[in-house]
Parts: sequence; C-alpha cells; structure tokens
Amino acid sequence: MLFANIIVDITHEKLDKTFQYIIPAGIEEKIYAGVLVYIPFGRGNRKITGYVIEVTDKAEYDTDKMKYIIDTVDKSVPIETTLIKLAGYIKENYGSTMNQALKTVIPVKVQKKSIENKTIILDIDEKEQEEYRQSFAKKHAVARLRLLNELIINKRLSYRLVTEKLNVTSKTIGDMEKLGILRIERERLYRTPIKNNIKTGYDIILNDTQRRVAEAIEKSDDTVHLIRGVTGSGKTEVYMELIANVLNEGKEAIVLIPEIALTYQTVMRFYKRFGDMVSIVNSKLSAGEKYDQFEMAKEGRVKIMIGPRSAVFTPFRRLGLIIIDEEHEGTYKSEAVPKYHAREVAIYRAREEGAKVVLGSATPSVDSYYRAEKGEYRLYSMAHRAREARLPDVMVADMRIELENGNKTMFSGKLNGLITDRLKKKEQIILFINRRGFAGFVSCRSCGEAMKCPHCDVGLTLHTGRNWGIDNNSVRAGDNKLVCHYCGYTIPMPKNCPNCRSKYIAAFGIGTQKVEESVHKLYPSARVLRMDMDTTAGKDGHEKILSAFANGEADILIGTQMIVKGHDFPNVTLVGVIAADLSLYASDYRASERTFQLLTQAAGRAGRGDKEGAVVIQTYTPENPAIISSSRQDYEEFYNREKIYRTLMEYPPVYHMMAILMTSRDKSLLDEFAEWIKEGIEEYLEENSDNEERLRLIGPADAGISKINDVYRKVYYIKSENYGRLTHIKDFVENILYEEKYKNVAIQYDFNPMSGY
Ligand code: ADP
Ligand code: ZN
Ligand code: ZN
Repeated sequence: MLFANIIVDITHEKLDKTFQYIIPAGIEEKIYAGVLVYIPFGRGNRKITGYVIEVTDKAEYDTDKMKYIIDTVDKSVPIETTLIKLAGYIKENYGSTMNQALKTVIPVKVQKKSIENKTIILDIDEKEQEEYRQSFAKKHAVARLRLLNELIINKRLSYRLVTEKLNVTSKTIGDMEKLGILRIERERLYRTPIKNNIKTGYDIILNDTQRRVAEAIEKSDDTVHLIRGVTGSGKTEVYMELIANVLNEGKEAIVLIPEIALTYQTVMRFYKRFGDMVSIVNSKLSAGEKYDQFEMAKEGRVKIMIGPRSAVFTPFRRLGLIIIDEEHEGTYKSEAVPKYHAREVAIYRAREEGAKVVLGSATPSVDSYYRAEKGEYRLYSMAHRAREARLPDVMVADMRIELENGNKTMFSGKLNGLITDRLKKKEQIILFINRRGFAGFVSCRSCGEAMKCPHCDVGLTLHTGRNWGIDNNSVRAGDNKLVCHYCGYTIPMPKNCPNCRSKYIAAFGIGTQKVEESVHKLYPSARVLRMDMDTTAGKDGHEKILSAFANGEADILIGTQMIVKGHDFPNVTLVGVIAADLSLYASDYRASERTFQLLTQAAGRAGRGDKEGAVVIQTYTPENPAIISSSRQDYEEFYNREKIYRTLMEYPPVYHMMAILMTSRDKSLLDEFAEWIKEGIEEYLEENSDNEERLRLIGPADAGISKINDVYRKVYYIKSENYGRLTHIKDFVENILYEEKYKNVAIQYDFNPMSGY
C-alpha cells in the first residue's frame, strides 16, 4: 500500500503539518509530489484540496483509521519537486506556513484554458467534391454548400473565419468532419506578452574588461558572483554573454530585474540578441498569460525568463544561471508573508540545481559586498564606461545658500542654468524627486494640527487635480484630495482646519506634481512627461511614458524612484536631483545606504550617449556623508563607513536580525501578548543557550507606524550573529507559543528587514 503526505490547502498555523492519506488503487500513477488532490478532512469529512508533498510506503499511523485520497484535482498544475524544496527552504528561513510557501513558489494554481489555432482543410478528391456539392444542393443544405465551395477554392481556411465570416456553425463543421469531407488541424498557441518580437541582429563585441569578467565567471566553480560595475560599464552585455554560453550547454537562464518599470528596455535588448527564446513574467500579466509562460518554460520552448523577484520560481528543468540585475534593490525582498529575499532564494536554488548566480550593481548592497569581502561571493569590478562616454560631472547645490540669496524657486542657479542650456541644445533632462504625490504633509499654520489618517498612524498626502502626465484619466481637473498612502483612505481637501477653522491649511514639501507645475511656469515651451504612481496606473503605463521619452517626445522627464533605475536614454545629458535629503529621514538603519544608491543611480542616468553629462544634487544637508560620497561617486568610501556603523550598532550584515511583528485590533490584548511572547522567549533562551552566545533582544515596542487600517502594531527585535539561531527561536514561537485567548493577535516574521517597522 502506498501513502501520500499532504499539506492541506488552508492557511492556518495550527494545520501547518502534513497529513497522511492512503492512495487508492488505480490512481497511483497520478499521485506524486506536487500534485493537487481532493481529500476528506476533519470530523465532517469536508472535501478540501491539498498538495501531495511526498509519496511513501511507510504508514505513520494505524492504516485502519487512515482516510483515502478522493482523486486528483482536474487540471491542477503540479509543483515540481525542486519547487517544493524551495518552498520548504522559504518556510524554514522566513517564517510562514508550508501552504503559504507553496503558494509563493507556484503562482498559477489551476490550469488555464489553452488557446488553439485551428485550420479547416479539405480532405476529399475532386470526384467526391462534385458528389457532395450535388447532394447538399438537393437537400438545401446551404451552410454546408457554402463551406464546401469556399474550401474547393482555398483548400485551407481559418476556423475562426469560417464561423465568423462564413456564418457556418461549429456543429456543421463537426458534421462535415465526421463525413470525412474535411479535417481540422490544431496548433497550440501561447499567449505572448511581448508585442514586438523581432530579432534585429546583434553586433556588439565585448571589450577586454567584459571578456575577462565573463570568462572568469564561466571558468569558476563558485556559485555566487558579484559584479560591481559603474552604470554604463556594460554589465548587461556580460549577462547576455554568460546566457549565450548557458544556452549553448542546453541550459536555461532566469534574469531578475527590480521592478516592472524596467521590463521594457531590458526585454528589448535581450530580444535583439535572443529573439523569441526570451519571455517575461510579471504581476501585470493575466493569469492565462502567466500560465502559458510557465508552461513554455517547463517545456523548454523559452529559455530565458525575465521578471521581478517571483521569476526566481520559473520552473525550468535545466537551470544554468540566475542573473540578478541591480541586486541592491529593496524590491527583491517580498513585502508579504513569507518575506523572502529573492537573492537568497536564488542562491539556494542555484546550489541545489548546480547553477550559478550573478549579481550586478553599480552600488552593491552592503550585504552582498560584505559577503564578497569575506570570500563567500566572488567579486569583479568594471570601473569604466563601455563606450567612450565619461562619467558625468556631479555638482552639489546647497539650497540653504540659494534661499539666503533670495532664490525662492525649487531650482538652484546651477540647475536652472543647465536646464536652459540643455533645452536650447535640444538635449534631454531628467528631474528626480524622491517622493510621490503633490506634497508630504498637510497641516494648519495657525494651530499646527496635521491632517492624519484616522485609521493609520501617518499623515495624509495632497493630490491635486491637475495632471500633466500622459494618462489623464486617473484624476479629474479641480479635485484636490487627501490620500492615505497606506490604506487608500481619501477625503476632499478641507477648506478650513478641522481643529481651529482657520483657512491657513496648506501642504509642505515637494512632490512630482509640484515640480511639474514649476517647470511649466519657468520653461513654458518645454515638453514635459511625468512618471509616478499616479500616471502609471494602467497596464502599459510605464512603457508608454518611457518609450515616449526615449522617442524624444518630451524634453524633460519628471519622476520618482522609478525613473532613475537602469534606463538608458542616450540623449539625456542632465540629471537634477530636486531634494536629495528626503530619503535620509527614514527611520531605519538602511536609510543612508538607500540615499547613496539612489543618488548614484540618478547620477548614472546622465551622459549615457556620446555627449557629456552633468548632475546637480540639490540638498539642505551638503555635509551629510551619504551625499558627499555619492557626489564623489565613491563606493568604497561609503561602504567602509557604513560597515563601521553596522558593526558598532550590530546591524545586518554583521549581525542577523529578526523582527517579530505582532498586530491586533485590540490594543490591550496586543500589549499583553507582546509581554507574554517576550517572557516565553527569554525563558526558552535561558534553558537553551551557552555563555558564548551573543544575543540582543530589543523591545517589544510600538512600531514606528503604530497603527495601520485600525490595526495596532508592536515589534520585537532579536539580533544574533547566527541566522540559524534566529530561525530556532522562530520555530519555538511558532510551535510552542499558542494560546486560544490570543487568537485575535497575528504574528509575522521578517528576517533582516529592509526597512523599519
Ligand atoms: P550597464 O548594464 O553596466 O549599465 P550596459 O550594458 O547597459 O551597461 O552598457 C551601456 C551602453 O554601452 C549600452 O548602450 C551598450 O549597448 C553599450 N555597450 C556595452 N558594451 C559594449 C561594447 N563592448 N561595445 C560597444 N558598446 C557597448
Ligand atoms: Zn488649525
Ligand atoms: Zn490610512
């Protein structure tokens, strides 16, 4: 007798274990690891679904009491065994139920209907054709006659044309097929998300640096390779060279990119070289499109998959290489449970499957650089731009001095002069602002009352009705509103202060819309595009704006984070950073790293073509070390200082850190729970630790944002040099600490968090 260990498809911690069922005779062949099945569950034998994760001949308990699997779920997509292993790794290292982990690695659960291209082909000789014609005419079978006549002329007809244009029903076609008059040819079609799929030839010859890096990676037996290469040094060409070699060996490659906004340009470059071996997955594809991409990957019809972090789960069978471009980006970490980091998952997967991981960035994450320094990753450096283009001149503008000198606009004298110059020369400009919406904060200048979201512990943001972006549908003219960026709560902008009735209520700070208005005022003839969350809402929002700008349809592109990353616009010769300081005020240990990365990336957008580029960083804190290092484009200086700080403060990557986030609508219950967890952990540690161990326990305390959507939040941090130690503590909390009275408190884990709570 054979048994299946099954994870039930219900997300609840208490059920997070396998249940054993008997595989009924007759369906043994259909049951293997990864298959979704129906099982009777619980006392009422409710019919639910579950994933088989193992088939065994060892019964775990009395077979008389064991239930039988009902059947497989029709058309379910089996999870490959490698992906089940990945799910196990994710569950163990990031904290989630096995079911949540399985759902993470398998993005489409049920098979989508496949689409076919059908052709109708005439299948009888001339003599028979004549006989049928006469018989149909005699019987007044007009539809049959019409189709037959058409087939005699054309021999082959598209099925759709016949049903739609000739008005012949599927039933009539079926009948004629049975008579042997015609046959139907079926060809499976795959939904392809790439519209412009022409391979246009490839003519780049790697320079010496690129060749040296590519060859070294190929020859090496190590798994993880980190390329630090200045923007424009030709990293993407190195990736493509490595991929070409992997394909030659009959293997496949995954290319991770930080966000959807980058898909367009990257995909086009890969397409030029590899044609339709390339495909993409991302959250904007329909379920059917996604399903087809994974099917094609499984079948080896595509060999290169490009996408954001979840593309790391592409079910290739012969994976040879995973590229992670802009590896320092925060988007590689999942924000939802399980909060996995795609870089770590990629490395684990590559080790399991004998593949390599190549990380690339102009400003590697402190985490990766630290690992490279310790010899865990191999490090390569590309210090010069591939084409003759020099690195841009970077200038810092002290906005305090500008104000003293009477400049009340948001553009420093330097930036203003350069904008005018570039407009005259018909060169393009990027203005980067580290914020979205109109302004940060709305408050009353009389009484100081700030407009806050009633459900979240955060200020509301003003959005104005004027929308100069490409997509004019999202906001109607004239409606100013206050929006909560955490829960979406929206109210019209009040005319008077709700607290003191004063009318002096206004927004502070700078946002993309405000920059756009200033640009229109100061440079009325300039053509402007704006790119932020508001203008990119549609399916192809990003691509429309980026390709319009790349085609020279605008002189100035204004935008947030998403415009400074990775794009290659050869005609851009000026980048202005409007307010460099904003990301410095975030209250977490990575704030300075993020600022340095953003500014360096922004600077890297200038002068990618033959013309020289300039960058102006506007700041109120020119003495800030992150700003100084980025204006010098000095990564080493930044890294060395950051390493000292993290070592001193015992932050990642020197220490590992686990955040336990506890949430509940009931504030006092939450406080009680947090204390109980803390005591539980302390007790556990007393019994289970040696004196050598250095653990740090911080909190529990209210989270930085202590309430979101009326749910209160508390956080407890545990730091250790040993990651495994933290997962043990997590296991202990998961398995031991459960009490009915706390069932309205939720708990989440975040390992080495990317931002503060
Ligand atoms: P990165 O990915 O490091 O930012 P890219 O690969 O995008 O750099 O290269 C920057 C520019 O230089 C691109 O326009 C690219 O086509 C060009 N380029 C890169 N390598 C070469 C080469 N060996 N010969 C000619 N042009 C190159
Ligand atoms: Zn007021
Ligand atoms: Zn809110």
